Amino acid sequence: MVAALVAGALLISGCAIGTGAAPDGGTETTTGAADNPGRAATEDEFAQDIESAVVVAERYWNDVFRQDGLAFEPVRKIVPYREGGEVTCGQDPIPAQNAVYCAAGDFIAYDIDWAFAAFEQVGDAFVYYLLGHEYAHGVQVRFGLRYEYTIEQELQADCMAGAYLNGSIQAGRLQVEDGDMEELQTGLLAVGDDPSQPWFAPNAHGTAQQRTDSFFNGYDRGLAVCDVG
Ligand SMILES: [Zn+2]
Repeated sequence: MVAALVAGALLISGCAIGTGAAPDGGTETTTGAADNPGRAATEDEFAQDIESAVVVAERYWNDVFRQDGLAFEPVRKIVPYREGGEVTCGQDPIPAQNAVYCAAGDFIAYDIDWAFAAFEQVGDAFVYYLLGHEYAHGVQVRFGLRYEYTIEQELQADCMAGAYLNGSIQAGRLQVEDGDMEELQTGLLAVGDDPSQPWFAPNAHGTAQQRTDSFFNGYDRGLAVCDVG
């Protein structure tokens, strides 16, 4: 996935993005980067993809809101973390190996090492999906949507992530590279619930098949099929 965003970084004022900055604003060096230029380049690419995914999502949702005559307030900030409990959402510690949207603070937090491993294993398209999904949770809050079951909210976020990705491709803000579609398929398989998980479980997100169907429904048919309003 390539972002066609030459001046994109200028538009994300107020966002704390990037793997070089700790959530408290302090600096953190990427270990081993000097010894391994290849890895440093990959880490740079990862950081750029995270940033691009957020900028592209902001633009997409800004357009959607503007078409409805509404003002869009971007998600307040993006917070990378390395340890479980390092970042809290309200009173709740955010666990390691996760990415979340925190409504209490209006921010997206992600475990850098976990997301980077997924980026390396699955590919860059996964980063666009992951950020697109979490960003969609922020948009659900802005729309004031309510859900009976978590799974409805999660599958809708997958649908919205698909709509944002293809909408951004159609708008010329992202370009699909060879392998991106396969990466999205692989990523969605990886985030599916264990088939034994009941759909009404408090933390159910949907099986791999449900998540794939929902994502590609939004991707192929657009936001109108995601029931956002
Ligand atoms: Zn979610």
